[in-house]
Amino acid sequence: MQDIKNLSEKTQHYIDLENKYGAHNYHPIPVVLTKGEGIFVWDVDGKKYYDFLSGYSAVNHGHCHPKIVEVFTQQAQQLTLTSRAFHSEWLAIFSEYITRYFGYDKVLPMNTGAEAVETAIKLCRKWAYKIKGIEEDKAVIIVCGQNFHGRTTTIVSFSSDPSAKKDFGPFTPGFISIPYNDIALLEAALKEKNVAGFLVEPIQGEAGVVVPDEGYLSKAKQLCQDNNVLFVADEIQTGLCRTGRMLACHHENVRPDILILGKALSGGMMPVSVVLADDAVMLTIKPGEHGSTYGGNPLACKVAITALQVLKDERLAENAETMGKIFRKELLALQSKHIAVVRGKGLLNAIVINHPDKEAAWKLCLELKHNRLLAKPTHGDKIRFSPPLVITEEQIKKCISIIAQSLSVLD
Ligand code: PLP
Repeated sequence: MQDIKNLSEKTQHYIDLENKYGAHNYHPIPVVLTKGEGIFVWDVDGKKYYDFLSGYSAVNHGHCHPKIVEVFTQQAQQLTLTSRAFHSEWLAIFSEYITRYFGYDKVLPMNTGAEAVETAIKLCRKWAYKIKGIEEDKAVIIVCGQNFHGRTTTIVSFSSDPSAKKDFGPFTPGFISIPYNDIALLEAALKEKNVAGFLVEPIQGEAGVVVPDEGYLSKAKQLCQDNNVLFVADEIQTGLCRTGRMLACHHENVRPDILILGKALSGGMMPVSVVLADDAVMLTIKPGEHGSTYGGNPLACKVAITALQVLKDERLAENAETMGKIFRKELLALQSKHIAVVRGKGLLNAIVINHPDKEAAWKLCLELKHNRLLAKPTHGDKIRFSPPLVITEEQIKKCISIIAQSLSVLD
């Protein structure tokens, strides 16, 4: 196995520099990247790798997609930020474009995923008080165990991950957590008084690509509708063609009442997120009650329109669906004793490692890196495989052979 101490001087220099001056809030794979193109990235020593993380699904279009780069650089020289104190032509055009694209009345633009989740929570609560008639400060949002919706204090308040919460309290009240993929418990929870919304990931990405049973999302949506509760889908990781459909909810023909998007909305160029909803929900928030200096800036709007256009032009949902099937089939065909589970949809996939060594997933990722494929463990024994959606069958097959070769490190 490759020794992580066996790094080039240059690589070690940047890692040391980052460690010395940067906060230690991540534990990266020891590789220092300097360039990206399509499904490939290069390190500072000039080594070329397959990117099987895609910036946690932010780079669905492939690195530095030429059409997005072109629009980005052109708009960067024209106008980048107005704030929402003034109008901009591109916010207007973007608002029409994205609402028509997804079929909602209105959009509220933000920047990071966590901000968009916060926005959805505020909208859900506002709707509960103004429209549903819940008594002030009593609204409850149902969430799922093992969720991941971001890192703000309110969002970690309803996380079940101890490392996300420990020593960050006191926490925001108003959330109840039920196990994911359990319709009976959702039905029971919806009977509670004052439920405003059900916030759910259509596939739990960070938890290790946990795919719910078929029918879970459609039944959950129906139950929400029957109980006058908003179905809020966090598609920040699953959306924008990643799972083989434009939205993961589309696998079950579900239309969320509130839809949250982020990550790949800019093709990996900059933080762009949105919340989409109809007027009955969105117009409950009035001027001055919510906002963000950068949210809806002209550069973000123009880039996002292009990124959305590219998804359709290049049929990336179809490619993700086809390549995902090949990838899972070939992985299963390896019949590796070190792989307990292969799961996923489209190009959002994960394996669960079967090995007595708790560090096995990490060690495998180091070996994958050595063999020029970059992936990262999540929750100890799981490795997510989520390459850019522009990957070809030949490249998938090459990557399967790299994975097969690397697995021998666990023998
Ligand atoms: N929601 C989901 C489902 C995510 O996967 C993520 C990030 O991984 C977020 C929210 C948070 O997004 P961001 O890191 O842009 O704040």
